[in-house]
Amino acid sequence: MPRDPRFDILFEPVKIGPLTAKNRFFQVPHCNGMGHAKPRSHAAMRGVKAEGGWAVVSTEEVEIHPSSDLSPYVEGRLWDDRDVPALALIAAAVHAHGALAAIELAHAGINSANHYSREAAIGPSHCVSPYSYAPAQARAMTKADIRAYRRWHRAAALRARRAGFDVIYVYAAHDLSLAMHFLLARHNRRTDEYGGSLTNRARLLRELLEDTKEAVCDRCAVALRLAVDERRGADGLASSGEGRELVEMFAELPDLWDVNLSGWANDSVTSRFAPEGFQEEFVRFVKTVTSKPVVGVGRFTSPDMMVSQVRRGVLDMIGAARPSIADPFLPRKIETGDIDDIRECIGCNVCVSGDYTATPIRCTQNPTMGEEWRKGWHPEYVPRAAGDDRFLIVGAGPAGLECARLLGRRGCRVDLAEACADLGGRVAHESRLPGLGAWARVRDYRVQQLRKMPEVQIYRDSMVSAEQIFEFGANRVVLATGASWRRDGVGRANRFPIAGFERADVFTPDDLFGGQIPSSPVVIFDDDHYSLGGLLAERLRAQGRAVSLATPASLPSAWTVNTLEQPAIHRRLLEIGVDILTQHNALSYDGRELQLACVVTGRCSRVPAASVVTVTSRLPNDGLALALAAAPDRLAAAGIVSIASIGDCYVPGTIAAAVYAGHRHAREFDGADGDDVGFRRELPDLG
Ligand code: ADP
Ligand code: SF4
Repeated sequence: MPRDPRFDILFEPVKIGPLTAKNRFFQVPHCNGMGHAKPRSHAAMRGVKAEGGWAVVSTEEVEIHPSSDLSPYVEGRLWDDRDVPALALIAAAVHAHGALAAIELAHAGINSANHYSREAAIGPSHCVSPYSYAPAQARAMTKADIRAYRRWHRAAALRARRAGFDVIYVYAAHDLSLAMHFLLARHNRRTDEYGGSLTNRARLLRELLEDTKEAVCDRCAVALRLAVDERRGADGLASSGEGRELVEMFAELPDLWDVNLSGWANDSVTSRFAPEGFQEEFVRFVKTVTSKPVVGVGRFTSPDMMVSQVRRGVLDMIGAARPSIADPFLPRKIETGDIDDIRECIGCNVCVSGDYTATPIRCTQNPTMGEEWRKGWHPEYVPRAAGDDRFLIVGAGPAGLECARLLGRRGCRVDLAEACADLGGRVAHESRLPGLGAWARVRDYRVQQLRKMPEVQIYRDSMVSAEQIFEFGANRVVLATGASWRRDGVGRANRFPIAGFERADVFTPDDLFGGQIPSSPVVIFDDDHYSLGGLLAERLRAQGRAVSLATPASLPSAWTVNTLEQPAIHRRLLEIGVDILTQHNALSYDGRELQLACVVTGRCSRVPAASVVTVTSRLPNDGLALALAAAPDRLAAAGIVSIASIGDCYVPGTIAAAVYAGHRHAREFDGADGDDVGFRRELPDLG
């Protein structure tokens, strides 16, 4: 299909210093959990982005010195010449598709844990990291240290150029870089020419920019990534204060401005807490100050929104981390007029959890993310299946939908049967929770794709029995029947049922999804620790219930630390009047009170509870799987050669895990069975 002319503006070239970006799509730096430890995986992932049409593809933050060692987190690394070849792989993979390769040089300053290098952390002043309880401090840099740091940065820029990078970043954002630490009065208490006035605090940043330009400007462009607003008022950088003054101070010095919010939780806020384009009010002033190209982010997935940003003079280039993760081919799909095929980011930040757990990135929407090299998965291309298999998939949740989509792409005949009128399984319910509307994209993208596939038939309102499977005529059966929340309270803290949880006034999340509204006051017992307990609390408050949330964890929705959301969830729960009881386990329920015990002391207490909602763990809906497994003769007689359980009915997990399981089965059902690892690994070369 030809491109819609109203999107032409997105495909105009942009001049960046001595270079020209072929269009306005800029994949800004993002962590990926592969970094220096898995260079082939990392390079393949960036290469796919370039193939997908991004004009500039960047690395994540790249440590420039052992005193900036972020272990156990896996970021990029450029400590000396021996790191150049791994980074050169990335630049080459990006260049192979005609894109520019960018590298974000970074020194983590006061946040450097240095667990591996055992170097002393450095900063503008003696201080501890605000982001860690580790018993370690950063040391105030001497003038000699500052000179050394400038040398390291310059050497890193030269190495980056040698590795083939085109755009070299100076990084002063997220409160995660030494250059930003010097900018901030709360970290920088120096009394010399590097402290005090903003001009003094910005001296080091100016020197870094000048050093870098002098070192590499013959061939490379120099970008400045600056947090122009920290959303903490006068206590930090603000677009109405020092954030703006900094842009005015350096207006024409960098070849490109990449501007955003700090810290990372503000920059990568989830869809639950901010809409697409949320950074505009903070960054729109930048283009009025500088003539250099400006990149900004905002979870942009709508081409109309992108055009609007450019036309209204907010941004010159559409920056994206998450949208490029969810759909590496986003620019190409706009270019070829395939807007309907864009796999939009849902803003869940499961991608961030890869970085937080120091493991390769995963994405709810894009199951191929992080699998480009180790499994050879491509987000857009998949080989056609050789045989003449006919599939019956039971259940149209995320696992069943993704499996059907990819099998359809492989040219297989697929019948997809869903018990309910609505498709989407858990996504249909969870996307109706407060703020989770964008999560429906997991369903909508797949249903939209399936509509275009004549080889896939969808049957709604079709509860499938084992008997029907024997008679159906499919030779391969995929069970994607999901899981159900336990009613008995068994979870992490309780391995046996909780006394009284068999009562009728104890509800599960499934009961609430089915429309039941527990009576007030209600206590949510959250031993799940992801977001659902907090979301149900929010919904019940909106329904006028008095709500307490009891959890054995030290924080409500504790795991959402890994999606950058925990503080925002905590704040919201307090603001809407939810009573939070942390470090409390549920012991018993009598219909009037929930008895709790402090997980530290065992001391008992009681909270009034006309009803209880228990959010602990789930059991797979494996009735069909067990019935089929019990009848091998009938399976053989029906010509059924394989039965696979995928997603939550195999093992309950995240939506991302269910999508991955559906994708994997469709890719691998016709592969060789074996006991091998199942993916390529990057092992140390002991030669
Ligand atoms: P997953 O996350 O693994 O995809 P979900 O719970 O989201 O699991 O979705 C499972 C879907 O399967 C639900 O929509 C449910 O209605 C459907 N389902 C469960 N059992 C049957 C069945 N026997 N026949 C048809 N559909 C079923
Ligand atoms: Fe977007 Fe979620 Fe994928 Fe991250 S994991 S890119 S937030 S859909």
